[in-house]
Amino acid sequence: MGEDLEKLKQRLPLLDYLQQLNWSGVPAGHGSELVGLCPLHPETRPSFYVNTFKNLFYCHGCGQGGDLIRFVELSQHLSFRLSIAYLERQKTSPAEPSDVMAQAAAFYQRQLRHCLEARRYLEQRGVRDPSLIEELRIGYAPGGNLRRHLTDQGYSSESLQRAGLVNLQGCDAFYRRVVFPCYQDAQVVNLYGRSIGAAFPHRFLLGPKGGLFAWESVRQFSTIILVEGLLDLAVLWQAGFRNTTCAFGSHLTAFQFRQLSAEPDRLVYIVFDQDDNQAGQLSAYQLARRLAPASVPARVVHLPAGQDPNSYLVAGATAADFADCLKGAQQL
Ligand SMILES: [Zn+2]
Repeated sequence: MGEDLEKLKQRLPLLDYLQQLNWSGVPAGHGSELVGLCPLHPETRPSFYVNTFKNLFYCHGCGQGGDLIRFVELSQHLSFRLSIAYLERQKTSPAEPSDVMAQAAAFYQRQLRHCLEARRYLEQRGVRDPSLIEELRIGYAPGGNLRRHLTDQGYSSESLQRAGLVNLQGCDAFYRRVVFPCYQDAQVVNLYGRSIGAAFPHRFLLGPKGGLFAWESVRQFSTIILVEGLLDLAVLWQAGFRNTTCAFGSHLTAFQFRQLSAEPDRLVYIVFDQDDNQAGQLSAYQLARRLAPASVPARVVHLPAGQDPNSYLVAGATAADFADCLKGAQQL
């Protein structure tokens, strides 16, 4: 039941549901929060906050808050059980965000072939194997041509906005970014865009990022390597460490944590960035301590100062060097 509920909430992110009800919000300062008028009580000044990362809402006006199911309970005046039944009936149609997201990913994948600058960028970041680029479906967003392409395919502007592919002004969300699709149950649920220009390097579309990257293939291994970023993962896969997954940052969502801790006795190597402020290392130790009670042994791996797995391999470290780092990892 718990797992099914989680899947339901992943399949139908709270923000998508609210937008289907024509709710709209504006960014509320922090990266993953939007604020707009509360659909649950009459108000003239926005006090309804949606955290797209946590997939939760909270209204400072009426004090209500919770997840998608709680929202349906309150807005439809249904019991918990009936709210779930109600949500399960919300069938996915061809214009649903997951489908439009897959179309966008395929379009970006084709763009990469025409962009020498983006392919050079990947090469500089150590991602050279054409079959890996194909397998990860890495693409490139030049910016300015996605909206036109998808509306020509018959997608409405609203469905593009709902998916976060274009903003409220109708401009593409991604400009000059190398794009990695994020999958959940074989569906594209989000896109990660890595800037190849001067813009802030990391960007996701609004909405959940899904579970651990490529979990369907990685979960079979008894030893798992967890990294922060997709460029870390790409170079490790290329070096033969196919048991590498990625959490898109150093903080796991509740769902990702459950994936990682579902099978006890699986050994987890945590290889986060060795930043100057120790943020990555602190997160790594915190995660290792949280995994211990779930009978999942975890080891925190140290790379040379200032390195992340990507920069370490790009700087010339071999698969054997990296394997040595794993061997030297500390057990808590
Ligand atoms: Zn309210």
